[in-house]
Amino acid sequence: YTQAKTLVFSKFGEPSDVLHLHTHSISPQLPEGAVLLRTLAAPVNPSDVNTIQGIYGVKPQFSPLLGTPEPSVIPGNEGVFEVVAVSAGVSTLRRGDWAIPATTGFGTLRTHAVAEHADRTLIPVTSHEGLTPAQVATVSINPCSAYRMLRDYTDLIAASVASFSKDPSTPGGAWFLQNGANSGVGRAAIQLGRLWGLRSINVIRARATEAETEALKASLTSLGATVVLTEAEFLDRAFSSTLKSLTRDGRDPVLLGLNCVGGKSASAIVRALSPKGTMVTYGGMSRQPFMFPTGPQIFKRLRFEGFWLSEWARENPGEKRKTIEEIVALMQDGKFEAAPVEEVKWDWETKETVLKEAVQGTLEGFRSGKGLFVF
Ligand code: NDP
Repeated sequence: YTQAKTLVFSKFGEPSDVLHLHTHSISPQLPEGAVLLRTLAAPVNPSDVNTIQGIYGVKPQFSPLLGTPEPSVIPGNEGVFEVVAVSAGVSTLRRGDWAIPATTGFGTLRTHAVAEHADRTLIPVTSHEGLTPAQVATVSINPCSAYRMLRDYTDLIAASVASFSKDPSTPGGAWFLQNGANSGVGRAAIQLGRLWGLRSINVIRARATEAETEALKASLTSLGATVVLTEAEFLDRAFSSTLKSLTRDGRDPVLLGLNCVGGKSASAIVRALSPKGTMVTYGGMSRQPFMFPTGPQIFKRLRFEGFWLSEWARENPGEKRKTIEEIVALMQDGKFEAAPVEEVKWDWETKETVLKEAVQGTLEGFRSGKGLFVF
């Protein structure tokens, strides 16, 4: 028997109130088609906290299967596992391989897991040479979302004649504009944009001091951001003339806006979009709604879309696998950096309170990176 520990919740609420650490044992008799996994690393994403709070777009089913006093749910949607045992009927995985969940809702905040129908429910990381668990654990949600949003709504690459890698100062081509640019998704969009020759205008929250803000701007520029602005600079009246000169009076259109934040910042994206531009909303970090100004919608013929990775992946499972494989390969070539994380060690002795606080802390903002459990 394998002794395992898992975070669970049996009712919705703040993570520090409702999460519990549950110990159980896993039988060596695996069902056909299943594998036994040991967790290597698992991040805490904003959506994990929202799911525990009961305010996410989909509510999980509380299940009696774990043997907790009340039916429960295992939080966590992303992570990387090592395969420790394989039963008959599994063809894509061997002992020692690394694998990541193929869909969200897997329950990753636990030391071990049994994955049934492993060929379908897991994506093997064919070769993990040169990769760290932290990189692989965070590839399937943020980088994958950035990739799809840059590619699936408007053909920015075709509209962009300037190759960033050749000469960033060359005028010409289309732009994308994003708020929440320092988020996991934002940092991934910057890097993919650079690889694909796209120019980007990136909006961040200012830090406590000018020097820290400048350091953050410099770090995004080094990832490949063309322009980085604070929210205050973006909302300032002077931005319209900055935009005019960046877009050469609209000749280089802003065709795509990625909205992570909502509120005033989202309305400013609407104003900055060029005719026939598209705004894709994927997050609401400020928890503020935003105005959809009528004039720009009509006279610029704008398009508004919502992106939800889970649903996209359900509809396009093969594409999700391919997207992840492509990003993993970029990481192996040293062309793509994972977002910074704050590692939290989880071993047999780690106390429940430490784990709960690490989950709670993820939405507390101005962190050096999101929480990542390493095992
Ligand atoms: P991270 O945990 O990496 O980063 C969170 C970001 O949000 C930080 O950059 C932080 O800014 C910023 N932020 C926090 N509070 C505010 C605020 N009040 N105003 C402006 N910015 C704020 O996030 P992820 O990249 O994992 O996720 C970002 C968003 O995208 C979340 O809302 C998440 O749910 C969503 N998401 C949605 C997906 C989908 O399918 N729709 C898929 C993936 C993510 P700072 O850097 O200044 O601290």
